[in-house]
Amino acid sequence: MKLLSAIVPCYNEEENVPYFYEEFLKNESFFKENNLDFELWYIDDGSKDKTAEEVKKLIQKDSRVHLLTFSRNFGKDAAIFAGFEKAKGDYVACMDADLQDPPSLLPEMFENIWQGYDMVATRRVNRKGEPPIRSFFARMFYRLMNKISDAQIADGARDFRLMTRPAADAIVSMREYNRFTKGIFGWVGFKTKWLEFDNVERKKGETKWSFWKLFIYSLEGITSFSTTPLAFAAVMGMLFCVASFALIIFIIIRTLVFGDPTSGWPSLVCIISLISGVQLLCLGIVGQYLAKTYMEVKNRPIYLVKEEI
Ligand code: UDP
Ligand code: MG
Repeated sequence: MKLLSAIVPCYNEEENVPYFYEEFLKNESFFKENNLDFELWYIDDGSKDKTAEEVKKLIQKDSRVHLLTFSRNFGKDAAIFAGFEKAKGDYVACMDADLQDPPSLLPEMFENIWQGYDMVATRRVNRKGEPPIRSFFARMFYRLMNKISDAQIADGARDFRLMTRPAADAIVSMREYNRFTKGIFGWVGFKTKWLEFDNVERKKGETKWSFWKLFIYSLEGITSFSTTPLAFAAVMGMLFCVASFALIIFIIIRTLVFGDPTSGWPSLVCIISLISGVQLLCLGIVGQYLAKTYMEVKNRPIYLVKEEI
């Protein structure tokens, strides 16, 4: 008998918890046929509603369900990490509580694992039901990320994955504080099969990600997996040095030849403000990395547990 551990991060998902369980159990006959047992880990990421109570109701009915409650909201990436630490299974799957990662895809994912893949990842092929501006920026982000980092992420990639024990161990071994899960999944490598599915809209409740939160998260992804912005700052500095040097020579020659004294302070003001802008930008980039380093060096725990059942 092999064990499947399913990790479900939940933040204010009281309405979705029972639905998810029902939907997940629809695979039970598939599990039986293939000699699979499962454990279902709901990770309650500091919910303010009755998520934990809903999970406890399930635990009373079914001993395969488990609950880990955080002391406060630590974010989805921390919840996923906690799940990976708890998961004892030969296979580990990670899926959203809102059924946007359809559990009905699991049999197909297992087929691929048994064919020799270490990891099966999923991506949605469209973004039906999402604001167009969000889709546009999301696409730009994936393009940029794939150009400048060594963690390859497909456009529309979800955190919904099934993996074997060695791959799960690799995820647990990455103990960084600033966790960008999609990047981590891509970074560890392993033979990965990508499955595609049509976007499913959230079953109940609302998304926890505002545009602004997503924007900050995308910066997190870039600084976690690439140092290209730092190189960009250095190159900008160099370009400006070369340009000013050329300008100095031009002005000396012009003064010597035409004897023109000091005209043109408007251009001076423009140049000064442009260069100050560039300096602040570059300083900001350096500051971002410094801030990340600061948080990593503190070595704080990634999450704190209030209750485990
Ligand atoms: N989630 C979480 N902690 C958070 C935010 C979200 O555990 O701080 C969970 C949430 O309960 C859900 C999953 O992460 O199971 C995805 O969140 P959501 O559906 O809001 O994101 P979207 O699907 O819109 O990207
Ligand atoms: Mg969702």
